[in-house]
Amino acid sequence: MRKVALLLLAITSVVLADDSQNPFIATEVAPGIYMLAGDGKQFVGGGVGLLVGDEYVVLIDDVMEPTAAALLDAVNEIAGRPIDFVINTHAHGDHVGGNVTVARNGAIIVAHDNLRKRMHADPKLNTGPGALPVITFSEDVTFHVNDQEAFVFHVENAHTDGDAVIHFREANVISPGDVSFRGLFPFIDLDSGGSVDGFKAALQRLIDISDADTLFISGHGPVGTRVGLEQDLAMLIDAEARVKALLDDGMDEEQIVAANPLALYHDDYNWGFITTEIMTRTLIRSLTTD
Ligand SMILES: [Zn+2]
Repeated sequence: MRKVALLLLAITSVVLADDSQNPFIATEVAPGIYMLAGDGKQFVGGGVGLLVGDEYVVLIDDVMEPTAAALLDAVNEIAGRPIDFVINTHAHGDHVGGNVTVARNGAIIVAHDNLRKRMHADPKLNTGPGALPVITFSEDVTFHVNDQEAFVFHVENAHTDGDAVIHFREANVISPGDVSFRGLFPFIDLDSGGSVDGFKAALQRLIDISDADTLFISGHGPVGTRVGLEQDLAMLIDAEARVKALLDDGMDEEQIVAANPLALYHDDYNWGFITTEIMTRTLIRSLTTD
């Protein structure tokens, strides 16, 4: 634990823009690699990854459409030049809502095949020229930029069915998109091909490819460490087992919600979007449908 604490102390946060109108805070997790996230005053989107260097600027996810311009300002303040590539980790508006804006500014958008299919079919996401990725992959793809290798790989049916994880191997940084809700009940989007089993498997894979020094650019929540992801996975496994035990006792959904089997996690993991009740209902639905 001590090592993790020291590790997190060593990373630096920069509040962007002198006029303090910009809602993003940038944290440098490794030389040239940043996590950008909202300052908490308003919801701007998920955690964004940024790689800057002499050759290319690569962004991992963008944000809600209304805050896309502010994100570009924040990136420009750090990088001093336009974004070359955007890697979308999954098809949710708080991660891809700025695609039209970043594409109009010259960025090439890259994502998993299934993300493009979902965006194409959804008028709320397919919002105009440039919204859709122009390069897609089925299993994995590697970026060789700024003397870094960014290995981008698909994890099946986890948060959605089009999830991508970005692994900066040399820098020992992983950007898992919404496979990591650090310290928060996760949104597992069963209606978009996500699954509890896939989510657990994806978290386990992140743990397997990391070490005690790895830092995670969380889709939601603060910068993560392997210890934190292990806690989140243990919570999810135990939460699912608690719900399953009540189902096995013959309780129906409302009886289980009333029994509140996740009460012990409420103080740590409950948040506005995925409350303890919503997490409970998601696990019930997952366990009672094929
Ligand atoms: Zn999401």
